[in-house]
Amino acid sequence: MTGANLVEIFSSIQGEGTHIGETTLFFRFGECDLRCRWCDSPQTWKPAARCRIETQRGRGAFRVVANPVAIVDAVKAAEALDLGAHRFASLTGGEPLLQPVAAGALARALRQMGARIYLETHGLHTEALESLVDTIDVVSMDWKLASDVKRASDRRLGAVADFHEAHERFLRVARRAPEVLVKVVVTPDTQDREIDELCARIAATDARTPIVVQPVTPFGAVSKTPDAGRLLALVTRIGRVLPDVRLIPQTHPITGVP
Ligand code: SF4
Repeated sequence: MTGANLVEIFSSIQGEGTHIGETTLFFRFGECDLRCRWCDSPQTWKPAARCRIETQRGRGAFRVVANPVAIVDAVKAAEALDLGAHRFASLTGGEPLLQPVAAGALARALRQMGARIYLETHGLHTEALESLVDTIDVVSMDWKLASDVKRASDRRLGAVADFHEAHERFLRVARRAPEVLVKVVVTPDTQDREIDELCARIAATDARTPIVVQPVTPFGAVSKTPDAGRLLALVTRIGRVLPDVRLIPQTHPITGVP
């Protein structure tokens, strides 16, 4: 029986990207192989011993079960949280593509119940995406910048040259999904040359790709967000190459909705 290492299952509102504000049932996968300096979910970095499952939609009351969670049980939890009342079921993390068999099985089972599947990924595991892209309705991929992100296996920032080539490869496969968007988190350390490379790589696949510039929400090692002038300059710079660009901050720090 297929099971997934999950951190939590809960009902909420999408707080990032172009589908911001839409009702979403989240399946948060355990484990991540990156380390973003601003990461607000360090509890997802390692596989979780237990998964918490919301028991009443929007009430914040949870029961706790041991991992792995059988797909059939994850689907039952979704039914109990009124899956059909949500615009999307989100596979998020951590990094769901570190568990492609489980993520694909969960996506297929949820789709059979009428759900639209929204994949939130750091956008680097292309083979894993290939194995399940036909089960996904929206791919929301991050474009990680080496000035703020490293692999968990690297000791310091910049140890890898960058993630651009791997992201471009990933994006070419993600395009097979009905909808794809790219999100880039920007900080005071974001470099123009990184942004230019991002633009060139995305333009080489499809310059109409929706791009979300997300100012970092200060957390962890990041204490400041770029100022207004810098944000305007970044959006203008990207818009010269990729016209479907917009500035969208995270909303859950504002609304308090998890
Ligand atoms: S990819 Fe996501 S879960 Fe992983 S370190 Fe970055 S922000 Fe955290």
